[in-house]
Amino acid sequence: MHPQIGDRPEEACGVFGVYGSEEAVDMTYFGLFALQHRGQESAGIAVSCGERIRLKKGMGLVSEVFGPNDLANMSGRMAIGHVRYSTTGTTLLANAQPLLVRYRLGQLALGHNGNLVNAFSLRKELEEEGSIFQTTMDTEVIAHLIARSSRGGDFEGCVLDALSKVRGGFAIVAMNSHMLVGARDVRGIRPLSLGRLRDGYVLASETCAIDAVGGEYVRDIRPGEAVFIDADGVRSVQFREPEEESLCVFEYIYFARPDSDMRDLNVHAVRKELGRRLAHALPVEADLVTGVPDSSISAATGYAEEADIPYEMGLVKNRYIGRTFIQPQQTAREFAVRLKLNPLKRVLQGKRVVLVDDSIVRGTTSKYIVNLLREAGAREVHLRISSPPYRSSCYYGIDTSSQEELIAAGKEVEEIRQYVGADTLAYLSLEDLLDVVGSQKRHCLACFTGDYLEKVPEGTKKSMFEEASWDGGEA
Ligand code: SF4
Repeated sequence: MHPQIGDRPEEACGVFGVYGSEEAVDMTYFGLFALQHRGQESAGIAVSCGERIRLKKGMGLVSEVFGPNDLANMSGRMAIGHVRYSTTGTTLLANAQPLLVRYRLGQLALGHNGNLVNAFSLRKELEEEGSIFQTTMDTEVIAHLIARSSRGGDFEGCVLDALSKVRGGFAIVAMNSHMLVGARDVRGIRPLSLGRLRDGYVLASETCAIDAVGGEYVRDIRPGEAVFIDADGVRSVQFREPEEESLCVFEYIYFARPDSDMRDLNVHAVRKELGRRLAHALPVEADLVTGVPDSSISAATGYAEEADIPYEMGLVKNRYIGRTFIQPQQTAREFAVRLKLNPLKRVLQGKRVVLVDDSIVRGTTSKYIVNLLREAGAREVHLRISSPPYRSSCYYGIDTSSQEELIAAGKEVEEIRQYVGADTLAYLSLEDLLDVVGSQKRHCLACFTGDYLEKVPEGTKKSMFEEASWDGGEA
């Protein structure tokens, strides 16, 4: 098998919205840049001039989708934006977001991050009632629910009615021509924050995007809450009785940017502390500690400090590879992988290395990286993982491998060590993880414990990318 680097849990999307600024489009563009790590497959911005919504979306990175003329041709005081994840799944432009539809109350633009666990049954019901779907996204299910809401009345009522029907983990930004909406699932699994601008408001998956546009963080959208933002300000409505907040713990471990804060904790500080705890898991004598860039660097520095072993840059990641660069041919792919992650031979030669990574999904990436370090001359490679073994698939919007492909689902730590070829392997314990993120707060931990927050309905797709069976007419 040729080396794979796509063996990571992948975030499904990042969402962003601005209300009340002359620079709404530019801000959304910069906001999406700040959220680019959450999705690289497609990007889109919808903008309202107060009467009409215009949309531009495309495949690729934000910088590939939007040229200077695109932004200049879009103006308005309200906008929403979306970045969608990459690596596997369908690459249809139709599935890029935001989604823009016209219904009896006018135009509606919608972008979402997450997975609706009842999307399949809702879609089936809607199709039986005559709805025609053009994409395979959960987002379209929400759009249909809003458009068909029998609760009648205004936009707000239709949105609340639709939100009361969906289940799962999601963060949504939506708008009609004059109102911006942000909403979060009833358990707050996927993140969404509200910020204040000089002359308006901003909604974003992460606080780093609020910072990027000069906004001031106000608060997180509460579980089961929808905020409606218009000329009268921010109005909060609870669309369903909230459950205890259960933020996805993987936001801290891997997905979020280190400069984001979640539930009053800075992501970098959390990762560093996870690394400190990890240093006690299976202490080894080593010459240097290195981390897999970018998400494991914070944990690796924490490990190094605690173990009193020097931190060194052992791997360099090229961040500027767009999806258009990746060629399907085997040789080109291997070059691409090598270009993406290169070991520093002069640093590693003859050294006993502690390699810190945030997770092992299928094991193929870890195996590849351990081998990369050995080829670069490392004498020993001790792999340390700053999270517990990843054993169960995610149903709340993260695209991982299927359960059978998760290496920790079927193998013990020693077998995994042998597979990846490390000299030693240790994971962080669940207790340490909970201690660091706050054991008094609830989190989603399902991919470590298999303990899902609610009964997963039969027919639930692990992620929206398992749509092939929908198209294939699965009953
Ligand atoms: Fe996050 Fe894992 Fe829960 Fe999915 S199952 S939401 S990745 S903690």
